[in-house]
Amino acid sequence: MYRIGYGNDIHRLEAGRKLIIGGVTIESSVGAVGHSDADVLTHAVTDALLGALALGDIGSHFSDKDERWKDADSITFLSHAVQLVSERGYSIVNIDSTVSLEQPKLRPFIPQMAAKLAAASGIEIGGVSIKAKTGEGLDAVGEGRAIRAEAVVLLEKRS
Ligand SMILES: [Zn+2]
Repeated sequence: MYRIGYGNDIHRLEAGRKLIIGGVTIESSVGAVGHSDADVLTHAVTDALLGALALGDIGSHFSDKDERWKDADSITFLSHAVQLVSERGYSIVNIDSTVSLEQPKLRPFIPQMAAKLAAASGIEIGGVSIKAKTGEGLDAVGEGRAIRAEAVVLLEKRS
């Protein structure tokens, strides 16, 4: 028995905020705005895991009105979703994702992000794909005002 899940996320970019993607802090003149640490990729992967088992979305588990999650490390959210997946008898087969950001170039950071997400997900690094794109000068991402991530996960019921 397999289940597939999809998640996406977008955050505004502003000066004076940290840019954290896939649990990795990246040097940048602008960072992502959000209640937690605004880690767009980790949020998309968390939503994909919750979505695969129809368990709602990240906001229903970690409200942005809750002071506990202010500036929270989003890897905590991912770990919680991974635990729910395990409790329901599923294993993660693989994660595929795309991050869209105008700058800086993310390619040099991808191995580090994949290692972080793999560790939090309890799978091998080869099971985590992260692709980096730009917005080609179009839309909010292309204009440098936002960062977006999308993720797909596959879960398999343990026999
Ligand atoms: Zn988010």
